[in-house]
Amino acid sequence: AVILYSRKIQRPGLFGFLKKPLVEMLVAVEEMNANERHLATSPTRIDTQGKLVDSDKINELQTQIESIEKTLNRFISTETEHIDGIVHKERPKLFEKYYEILLNSDVDENIVKKIMNITQNRLNFSSVNENTIQNAIKLLIKEYLGSASVLDKNKKDQSRIVFVGPTGVGKTTTLAKLAAKISVEMDKSVGLITADTYRIAAVEQLRTYSEILNIPIKVIYEPGEIVGALEDYRNKDMILIDTAGRNHKVEEQLYEVKDLISFVGNPDIFLVISATMAYRDILSMVRSYNFLEQYKLLFTKLDEASTVGNILNIKTLTGKPLSYFTIGQSVPDDIEVAKAEKIANMIMGE
Ligand code: GDP
Repeated sequence: AVILYSRKIQRPGLFGFLKKPLVEMLVAVEEMNANERHLATSPTRIDTQGKLVDSDKINELQTQIESIEKTLNRFISTETEHIDGIVHKERPKLFEKYYEILLNSDVDENIVKKIMNITQNRLNFSSVNENTIQNAIKLLIKEYLGSASVLDKNKKDQSRIVFVGPTGVGKTTTLAKLAAKISVEMDKSVGLITADTYRIAAVEQLRTYSEILNIPIKVIYEPGEIVGALEDYRNKDMILIDTAGRNHKVEEQLYEVKDLISFVGNPDIFLVISATMAYRDILSMVRSYNFLEQYKLLFTKLDEASTVGNILNIKTLTGKPLSYFTIGQSVPDDIEVAKAEKIANMIMGE
């Protein structure tokens, strides 16, 4: 028999406290023969001299335990539902509020369910309150987002960085912001290359930044031309390359980007995504860049986005690291390292 519970209690009655105390025990018996069964079917009391006593009090205790269990189940439920093959615990009431908050931040419903499920499993029900739930969810979101992968200013070899993504997301502006950071804050030499020749304005825009920042720029019209441009920049510490956004739904146009990347060798690639884009559009865009094995996610226009759940959605979907966030039009100031804490706070509505 295993003793589950024991305590000393006074005998009932007016002069109970004068008599020897009783020992109350709750025991579990794994296997028993028929003769013993009657002893184990209900918790039994013995006094300190080993005599059996009545079990009324124990029944009362059982009722109390059942009532405590019911109360706890209101917070931590063990009932489950199966969705997409994943076992999900039924949501306790205290979690409901956060479920809504995450959905309102446009976090994908499946991710919200996963977060809730894991948080429920992690929390010890004796310590559950709003604060612990909130902190546990935030911690999990931060774990999902991971740490930012940024430009390495201590890298000995030359860094080649290619910016890809649809037109209008802010590639050129972001490239100019990073170019300024590299040359001013990191004190490294930079060369710019643009292949975004479909829009005259895009070339002119980058040329203007290059003049202001006093950084050289080269314009290429065919992917193969990049070889010569890279050769000219062989002494630069970092080379930033802008590509044409165009229509990512047209495969042929993506080949050009693919071609260009193959000429560059082994570049760091930033996939630039506007935080204001609809989830469906981001999904379609990200899928069209599936041919890229490695890239970093760079989200722009956080200042204009009403919700940032898509950042968590896309990070979870692709598994690629976050890099930078841009937070306004101003070059070079409106860019920062992508901190998980910031997004976790925004998603939680803080
Ligand atoms: P590209 O076509 O991807 O190269 O995009 P551009 O760099 O030309 O930017 C398109 C527009 O978005 C421009 O008006 C930029 O000023 C604006 N933009 C870029 N980054 C941000 C940002 O972080 N916040 C806001 N509000 N606007 C931005």
